[in-house]
Amino acid sequence: MSRKSAVVPDPTAIGNVASPPFARLPDPASLFSARSGRLHQLAEASNLAPYLNFLAELVQAQNDIQSDLPLPESPDAETIARAHVFEMPLLDRGKIGGDKVASTIFDRLFAAAATIDKPVAAAKALARVTAADRAERFAMVQTVFTNRLPADAIAEHVFVWSALQVHFARLASVLDLATLVPVADGLCPVCGGLPVSTMVVGWPGSHGARFCSCSLCGTLWHYVRVKCVLCGSTKGIGYQEIEGQGGIVKAETCDECHGWSKILYQNKDPAADPVADDMASLSLDLLMREGPYHRGGFSPLLAGF
Ligand SMILES: [Zn+2]
Ligand SMILES: [Zn+2]
Repeated sequence: MSRKSAVVPDPTAIGNVASPPFARLPDPASLFSARSGRLHQLAEASNLAPYLNFLAELVQAQNDIQSDLPLPESPDAETIARAHVFEMPLLDRGKIGGDKVASTIFDRLFAAAATIDKPVAAAKALARVTAADRAERFAMVQTVFTNRLPADAIAEHVFVWSALQVHFARLASVLDLATLVPVADGLCPVCGGLPVSTMVVGWPGSHGARFCSCSLCGTLWHYVRVKCVLCGSTKGIGYQEIEGQGGIVKAETCDECHGWSKILYQNKDPAADPVADDMASLSLDLLMREGPYHRGGFSPLLAGF
């Protein structure tokens, strides 16, 4: 394993970007099934295969439990207007406490997860999280919202996060893109989540543009390249990668805040997925831990490694 630093930032940064949309909302009917397929595919060439295959099944369950759930309601005009005035995300996370559909999503996902072959530690965590009462579950939800997971209960919170992803992807999917406005740099304009990773896309009309991928709702929002996702600096940006892995995943480092975030090149591999490829590139995280940069964003699957 060797480190490779680019002296000149991101040589393809100019790209042939036309006018990328401000954001792309998630489609929960395809998001999780595609991610599950990608995890199985990545498992074929990975020494993390058993874990990636387990995750693939869990993500497939995120897809399968959605059948016959009622369509979420869009925020009303007053909520949208208030979000615009205060430059806040459109979705109010505080509403989850009384949301019956969210409660159904949790119950269904935990029940589906129980049928999946999994490591012993994951089985124990699932048993604990399934047995949690309303208040305990709500406390875990609030912890996930802080973007920091307690070291002694990471697996429990990964199950909670998985249910939240389904809930928020569904809420995000019915929004009108035209009602979105930017919020703080590096925060999801839909739900206020942190990016799990960022992605250079190959979409027609947006080829070469970079999007942040929300760790919570799955919205992709446009973010210019060669700019730190964590502090907004455009100075001191560098790139590192593990040689011989095709250049699909790199670490974008920032000398201003000493942070780094992961950037995926979906334009080189259209199947690349912000969560699946993040997990499968654990070796890059392990390499970066030897250096001076701390990883930003929120990447629950990697929290336990
Ligand atoms: Zn979001
Ligand atoms: Zn920075």
